[in-house]
Amino acid sequence: MIVGSGPAGYTAAIYAARAGLSPVVVAGSVSAGGALMTTTEVENFPGFTAGVQGPELMEAMRGQAERFGARIVVDDAVHLDLDGPVKTTETGSGEIFRPRAVILAMGSTYRRLGLPEEERLSGHGLSWCATCDGFFFRQKEIAVIGGGDSAMEEALFLTRFASKVTVVHRRDEFRASKIMAERVMNDERIEVAWNSEVAEIIGDAQVEGLRLRDTMSGSERVLPVTGVFVAIGHDPRSELLAGQIDLDPDGYVRVAQPGTETNLPGVFAAGDLVDHRYRQAITAAGTGCAAALDAQQFLAAEP
Ligand code: FAD
Repeated sequence: MIVGSGPAGYTAAIYAARAGLSPVVVAGSVSAGGALMTTTEVENFPGFTAGVQGPELMEAMRGQAERFGARIVVDDAVHLDLDGPVKTTETGSGEIFRPRAVILAMGSTYRRLGLPEEERLSGHGLSWCATCDGFFFRQKEIAVIGGGDSAMEEALFLTRFASKVTVVHRRDEFRASKIMAERVMNDERIEVAWNSEVAEIIGDAQVEGLRLRDTMSGSERVLPVTGVFVAIGHDPRSELLAGQIDLDPDGYVRVAQPGTETNLPGVFAAGDLVDHRYRQAITAAGTGCAAALDAQQFLAAEP
């Protein structure tokens, strides 16, 4: 049983199916295919010289898993009981599975600003990942939203491409570590819009600017940018696991790195559900592969 259908889940399914393990992928009801379904061009997944659209890549992974016999169930896992030699998974429609091994690959969610235009502009100038999309903004003016270490990292990384980076932060000082904050403030390619919150992302088909509201005075101004990177954190989708599996303080599943074993025998975890650090499609696919190999070995050793 594989829970999750992003690059980690589908890669695990390809390996498990080719090993003859008859995997079932509980893919999720609204977000089957995972995070890449919400983006456009993916240029850093190896094997695609001209890049590939996110949904096209995920359809190809799904097709490859099905070709070797993986069953894809487009539904949510609503209950997991992972203890003991036989696990139980229940889906939203009430289907019950009793696998002997489970691979958890539910990914993580990037925190959103909560603006209605976010969905429409995602992949059209609005991004949550500088490593993924920075390259598209050569010589452009862009904004980074946030005030923690990841916002600082994104801003510094983006200076390689952008002509100017504006960090938009709600308060008058950063939450980031002193060293990261200083690097940002000492970089002449970066400006900081202090005490500013995003009231609107402007643009119909493509980002054209931000309407910023001053958190002290309430006054508003337009910041003309063609790229916006939201860096206000991310949350692993581990709600179903709380209380039954070891999680770290941020809610990520703890695994026996470089392996994918969790603290429960027969339960493995992969992808962004485990990974604070890299959060890339290729790293998720890599750990998905590892989880399938670990599960295969676990099942082979069972009496
Ligand atoms: P996800 O892709 O998040 O998939 C998790 C899956 O779990 C989903 O299918 C979801 O439906 C399912 N799920 C969750 N809970 C349940 C449940 N209870 N029951 C059933 N299913 C469940 N990376 C790159 O390498 N290159 C890029 O260009 C790039 N661009 C990106 C653009 C955007 C807008 C975003 C958001 C991310 C981008 N990333 C990119 C990052 C990349 O998408 C992730 O690192 C990768 O998708 C993580 O894979 P995953 O399989 O761990 O999780």
